[in-house]
Amino acid sequence: MSRTILLLPGDGIGPEIMGEAEKVLRWVNESFKLDLSFQHGLVGGAALDDSDTPLPDETLELATKADAILLGAVGGPKWDGLPMAKRPEKGLLGLRSKLELFANFRPAILYPQLASASSLKPEVVSGLDIMIIRELTGGIYFGQPRGVRQLESGERQGYNTYAYTETEIRRIGRVAFETAQQRGKKLCSVDKANVLEVTVLWREIMNELKLEYPDVELSHMYVDNAAMQLVRAPKQFDVIVTGNMFGDILSDEAAMLTGSIGMLPSASMNSAKQGMYEPCHGSAPDIAGKGIANPLATILSVAMMLRYSLDEGAAAAAIETAVGKVLDQGLRTADIMSEGCTRVSTRE
Ligand code: ATP
Ligand code: MG
Repeated sequence: MSRTILLLPGDGIGPEIMGEAEKVLRWVNESFKLDLSFQHGLVGGAALDDSDTPLPDETLELATKADAILLGAVGGPKWDGLPMAKRPEKGLLGLRSKLELFANFRPAILYPQLASASSLKPEVVSGLDIMIIRELTGGIYFGQPRGVRQLESGERQGYNTYAYTETEIRRIGRVAFETAQQRGKKLCSVDKANVLEVTVLWREIMNELKLEYPDVELSHMYVDNAAMQLVRAPKQFDVIVTGNMFGDILSDEAAMLTGSIGMLPSASMNSAKQGMYEPCHGSAPDIAGKGIANPLATILSVAMMLRYSLDEGAAAAAIETAVGKVLDQGLRTADIMSEGCTRVSTRE
């Protein structure tokens, strides 16, 4: 069965890291006889320069038809002054909401070879392997009404709405329970049920779902405590599930526990398992064009894509093993460089 992959390099270091990830993808395609075909498209600043919109119709159409999307990164100082609707980031948000990519997976894994890169003590982080699942198309980032209004008193008030329907909570909950079943069978749901009604409902639905997944141990944690526990004792977590805003913050926090932003992949999926895969880091304009960016986060995103959207676990494992071997050999891009290792370029 032939499947189509859409490659969206984007801006900054996007094209450099994508170039290397594409080589890996083409290699597994041939070696494992995957029958994948590839298309390329523009998104973000690259699309703005070309057609004055961060998400051209053509890209959206290719994205809708693709089985999976691999994205580099978007944005950069060149487009900073533009109005909100024309920011490169709108290209990303548009893809997420148009394709209904409601489930965002962000693993925080500490590679033993890179243990010294973490800012935490080795015993606190060694062996760290957490999966954060963030709801991506609802919650306070999308709730209506929103805006800045004039009050009777004459002063302005900014406001947003934090809302989740039962359906939205249930579908992200199922994804989280199923993921926990395939991992360490421990799920921690993060909310603020002592203050926010929407998360009281969130907690209720998670408890309901738990009855369908008796093999998974479910716990609940308030978000402020979760933020603290993540730096105090991160290894207590296996899978974390939470809403859009809490997940945004906690997943960045968890990523930094590993000390290596250039190493972390992510996946965003819809109910049809169609997904968009991208590194957790941004477009890194400060190092763009220098050939020093770490391509491993993007290459590991290829592995996630093979596993989650294409059901090609063996090819995914081959990539992950290869990344481990590269690290074992002491080869390091600048961001993960340490004493006694060999510094290599993006391409090397
Ligand atoms: P965004 O808003 O798009 O998330 P950001 O401003 O948060 O972007 P990044 O673009 O992720 O930040 O860059 C943060 C820092 O990490 C920069 O100094 C950048 O050079 C570095 N960095 C990011 N990605 C990589 C990479 N793949 N390899 C090496 N360094 C990287
Ligand atoms: Mg960022």
